[in-house]
Amino acid sequence: MKPVIPQDTCFLFTQAESTCGLDKEIFGKVVTEPGQITNRDIVYLAADTVLPSFQGACPAALIYSAEDCRAPALWENGRFPVLLVKPNIVFSCGDIISISMKGRIHRHYRTASHNNAFLVTEACNNLCVMCPQPPKPARIVDPLQLEASVAATIDLLDDEHLPETLCITGGEPTMLSEGLIRIIDKIAKRSPLTLIHLLTNGRYFYYESYVAHLAAAARGNLLVGIPLFAHVSDIHDYIVQSRGAFDQTLVGLLNCYKQGISIELRIVLHQTTIESLLDLAEFIAKNFFFVKHVALMGMENMGYAKLNWSTLSIDPWDYKDTLSAAVEILQRYGIETRIFNLPLCVVNSDVHANCAKSISDFKNTYPLICAQCVKREDCGGFFASSTDKFFLTQHITPFLV
Ligand code: SF4
Repeated sequence: MKPVIPQDTCFLFTQAESTCGLDKEIFGKVVTEPGQITNRDIVYLAADTVLPSFQGACPAALIYSAEDCRAPALWENGRFPVLLVKPNIVFSCGDIISISMKGRIHRHYRTASHNNAFLVTEACNNLCVMCPQPPKPARIVDPLQLEASVAATIDLLDDEHLPETLCITGGEPTMLSEGLIRIIDKIAKRSPLTLIHLLTNGRYFYYESYVAHLAAAARGNLLVGIPLFAHVSDIHDYIVQSRGAFDQTLVGLLNCYKQGISIELRIVLHQTTIESLLDLAEFIAKNFFFVKHVALMGMENMGYAKLNWSTLSIDPWDYKDTLSAAVEILQRYGIETRIFNLPLCVVNSDVHANCAKSISDFKNTYPLICAQCVKREDCGGFFASSTDKFFLTQHITPFLV
């Protein structure tokens, strides 16, 4: 297990306060010890770092924070771009970032995180009613450009910063077709011990030869997270807004099993899925006993989930007995079951052990009332996108003993 670097801060994007000499886009790796830089590195000067002379190679750029008293000297160097960021923006050695000409910084890989993910496309062949990140038409984003960006990031990974798990997400990653296989092959070659967690709707896995190529590229280190929202096609196809999706996904699940790919079944919990959750649990237990685990997931209040809030939202407090019963069914058949995205105080105590701290660190938050809760450290909390209007529950109850 890698140590978490304490001073690193959670952000994917940030805007530099000001920039100097930035006349082109920059992509590179962050170094924090300027002694060993190349002209492709981006130096981040922490407040307690000795100001280097840069007599040898110059960095691609230099980032420092507003509290740094060395600012004037840095600003006037004229040899490489300099960016000023807020003091609460902290990078770690090995982070991989890009900087736009307007000073917008995108962190593609964060060494201090266990939640690194590559978004490989924003296109999707489903249109789920609760999609937190609605897809964009394929023509808007060039898939080859996204693939090249992911490949460049993989190339820059340091040996000492290789991830235990790396998520590939979209959109729907299989929309890249062969491109996805190339990305998975590249990750598996560069970091053979990394578990690749592929989030996909599984429809393209209907084609067994594709699944076979994917399995070969991953070399045994692939976990596919596939949603299954109902035990019958009418409900599943309605939720994903695609007729025929249910049948394709079921065949896809069987093809994954045949090709030795581990499967995580993902069920997002909202009004429509809760109505038939127990039927779905029975259906999975009897037909898909081979899955690695089932994830029962609280709904993220973003995108279409907000748009359809009145017809989808249901307080977890109101379905906690159904949730316990679903977990009981799955576990009775020996299927490992996890609960994602739900705080401990809104589920029954019999499923506390199933609850995982699943919300990515940069999206995770806790309301003030949680400060007094003795289970705060074990609780997964809430999505930072939560607002009064779109709040998950009205039943937050701190555990006091
Ligand atoms: S009070 Fe807060 S920290 Fe405690 S279980 Fe509820 S949501 Fe979690």
